[in-house]
Amino acid sequence: MRKKTVHEVSIALGMVDELSRIARENDAEKITLVRLKIGKMSGIVTDSLIFAFDAIKLEHPFLSSAEIIVNEIPLIYECNDCGIQFETDDIYFPSCSNCTSYNLKIISGEEQHIDQVEVEV
Ligand SMILES: [Zn+2]
Repeated sequence: MRKKTVHEVSIALGMVDELSRIARENDAEKITLVRLKIGKMSGIVTDSLIFAFDAIKLEHPFLSSAEIIVNEIPLIYECNDCGIQFETDDIYFPSCSNCTSYNLKIISGEEQHIDQVEVEV
């Protein structure tokens, strides 16, 4: 549990660095909204990330009133044997929902990035 939280804190800290760069580049005084895309495969616990971000943002005036919205991206695979695409929650041993093959290619679910930022100039 503790390890998980540390993971999300370090991601939140990395986000703060990137957001500070975005604010500088746009001559923004404040960041008001941050939208993130987080894939299920990324292993990030959304609630922990929001919790970490809400704690860290208070130390940064340009971020202190920012709201964070996380858009969770489903885990989708394409089967290399039968060609279908399917969604799964199994991040460890997924198999094709049609032919049970393990020969799969990931289509989405690995995302972990800032999607959109709203600023106040
Ligand atoms: Zn298949």
